[in-house]
Amino acid sequence: MFRQDFPILSRKIYGHQLVYLDNAATTQKPRTVIDAMTDEYLNVNANVHRGVHYLSQQATELMEQARETVRAFLGARSTSEIIFTRGTTESINLVAASFGQAFMSECDEIILTEMEHHSNIVPWQLLRTRARIIIKVCPITDDGHLDLEALSRLFTSRTRLLACTAVSNVLGTVNPLDAIINMAHDHDVPVLVDAAQAAPHIPIDVQSLDVDFLAFSGHKIYGPTGIGVLYGKEALLQQMPPFMGGGEMIGRVSFEHTTFNELPYKFEAGTPDYVACTGLARALDYVTDIGLDNIAAHEHDLVTYAIQRLREIPDMRIFGPSTAGVISFLVGNIHHLDLGTLLDRLGIAVRTGHHCAEPLMHRLGIEGTVRASFALYNTRAEVDTLVAAIERVRKMF
Ligand code: PMP
Repeated sequence: MFRQDFPILSRKIYGHQLVYLDNAATTQKPRTVIDAMTDEYLNVNANVHRGVHYLSQQATELMEQARETVRAFLGARSTSEIIFTRGTTESINLVAASFGQAFMSECDEIILTEMEHHSNIVPWQLLRTRARIIIKVCPITDDGHLDLEALSRLFTSRTRLLACTAVSNVLGTVNPLDAIINMAHDHDVPVLVDAAQAAPHIPIDVQSLDVDFLAFSGHKIYGPTGIGVLYGKEALLQQMPPFMGGGEMIGRVSFEHTTFNELPYKFEAGTPDYVACTGLARALDYVTDIGLDNIAAHEHDLVTYAIQRLREIPDMRIFGPSTAGVISFLVGNIHHLDLGTLLDRLGIAVRTGHHCAEPLMHRLGIEGTVRASFALYNTRAEVDTLVAAIERVRKMF
């Protein structure tokens, strides 16, 4: 399905047809995204927002159209709520720094979960060092779901934010955002959702979710690297100080006093990656044209088939419910790195290691896994290739 849209998929690796199963790390790019960006560099390029000249205005228009595309994709109320960042990591750092400064002080609490990516842990630890906040952690159950009972007991009068992932990049768990957000709001606690692994697989509507902040990365949803999004409710963003200072984010500047630009520009210091904004918008259009529901159905079929086939392999251990495009596994005593390296020699790209989720690895009592992650262009035949290759490696050990 759609494979011809992705030029890289025809590559051969060590003489084998590439089987790309590292989509949770980054997805491949359709030609339409590459063409849109090439066209902008070839025909439009000029710095945005500042110029009176034709090209600058055209580039600005493209960037603001991209913002509107993101707004529509997320179902946000206004483009004031759509901030372009370098990716999920920067989006979360922005909230940690700025929300932290505005709303959190010594002994205030944030709730995270045991299945967070490092990018939703470390920014809060940096804030903890600066502001002496307290980090509380919601545990997971043995089958890889959030323990909602335990979560409900973590809220106190000092809880200022709940920050959790929508989909685990290791376990493929899809967290029940509605229930989590309702629970937090019952305690008057806003919620930040890390949608890095959700956006490419699950339709998101920030207004019906009533989520307060939501972050995702362009490169995981068929868009370019170096661009991502922070959605934030306008009422909160208005009260938050800038994250970085520089051009673009100011109103007037003197050495005595500086005023800040309106939303969303207050949070976009410096020259943005406006060409990547165009690329991201084209990627979202691409996904929307195919339909996220259709993509989800295709990936569900693939993952179900893959789990069934992988379970045929003796000594196979699969971690977590693997619901959204991600399957983490280990085979017997074979080290994940050895398995990944040998699969690579057969042209199969999987990821190995802790997947930037070391606390989760500690919880699971392992050092790492092999992770196969799927996208709209993967096929059942590729699953068969993966399974045959694992069998071949297993027999070598
Ligand atoms: N959160 C999750 C759940 C992720 O899987 C990732 C990427 N592996 C990130 C955050 C960080 O995304 P980025 O590196 O694009 O900022």
